[in-house]
Amino acid sequence: MPTSLATRVSYEALPGRVVFGAGAVGELAAEVELLGGRRVILFDGLFDAMLVERLERELGERHAGTIGEVAQHVPAELAASALARARELEADCLVALGGGSATGVAKAVAKETGLPILAVPTTYAGSEMTPIWGITADARKTTGRDLAVLPRTVIYDPELTLSLPPLASAASGMNAVAHCVEAMWTAAANPVTDAVAAEGITLLAAGLRGSVHEPRDLQSRALALQGAWLGGTALAVGGTGLHHKICHVLGGTFDLPHAEVHAIVLPWVVEHYRAAAPAALARVARALDAEDAVTGLRELGRDLGLAAGLADFGLRPADIELAAELAAAVAPDVPAPTNKEEIVAILESAMTMGTTGREQ
Ligand code: NAD
Repeated sequence: MPTSLATRVSYEALPGRVVFGAGAVGELAAEVELLGGRRVILFDGLFDAMLVERLERELGERHAGTIGEVAQHVPAELAASALARARELEADCLVALGGGSATGVAKAVAKETGLPILAVPTTYAGSEMTPIWGITADARKTTGRDLAVLPRTVIYDPELTLSLPPLASAASGMNAVAHCVEAMWTAAANPVTDAVAAEGITLLAAGLRGSVHEPRDLQSRALALQGAWLGGTALAVGGTGLHHKICHVLGGTFDLPHAEVHAIVLPWVVEHYRAAAPAALARVARALDAEDAVTGLRELGRDLGLAAGLADFGLRPADIELAAELAAAVAPDVPAPTNKEEIVAILESAMTMGTTGREQ
């Protein structure tokens, strides 16, 4: 455990500027100026035409172009065409407006060019806080770390999340919860990520319950978005483990939606590590104000109306073997090694009994 005397910890803080607040997107042009951006590309993954027009107007002469082609898991062709467009427009700054898909395409361009990213997240995906990129080619998702893709500035405006529908909010929020949970048991876990992740879970549990019950409640939206910020921060340093490896296979190879898959798989992976990571599970339980981590996550899932299983998103029983094989090949040894059969068991459970652990 990271707090034990026997554990060696190395921790490196990541740089980045964050501007948080209702209406903060109005500061986009000023923040671009701070980054020295003169030819800005706007990656639009929100598809709110009025907002995009407003931002283009506010950027004025600094606006070089807008790219509306973004997709989950960043298909390689899409990354290549965005890169070609950025070069053609002689861009010097990338603004990602939207969820993890918009940030993901901007990261793919930054990885090749070193251009600075300013992210304006509108979901709880958390990618804006991480130096992790992902690209999918030939039905295989590859991820890696590169400081060049870490957004230099992040503008969090909870007003932009008011339009995220309840179920999408719930799934995206559980993706952020997963970042917090998994950061507690990776090899890179440390006292800073433990604290950040625990607070993230608490904020997300309260903020998501409020947001799903009353989607236009700005206070709940702000809590959830702050939780997502902490989730991304924990992920950025703590890194990913078995849960993310399984989700990346389901997204990259079987094209399942990212956030929904996280929500479904998470409690099953936590259950799987019950014996291997008792301290991490105890911290998760405390953060959820629950007796037990798995029970707390299932109750949260139930309160958020997350009823689906993997089968509802198109995973077939015949896919499980290959999915488990691919995930087992990259499964970490921390907090305990996991073999293919164990991943088959996780996936079989998650097929029809999703987040809540009940057969639908
Ligand atoms: P997404 O960006 O694909 O957005 C999902 C849908 O929600 C889209 O249709 C989008 O237009 C819509 N949307 C976004 N914001 C909205 C809003 N405020 N109101 C209404 N609709 C809105 O999905 P996501 O879950 O945010 O991101 C998933 C992607 O992010 C995956 O590719 C995943 O791998 C990646 N990701 C990367 C990291 C990282 O650190 N690299 C972390 C988390 C997620």
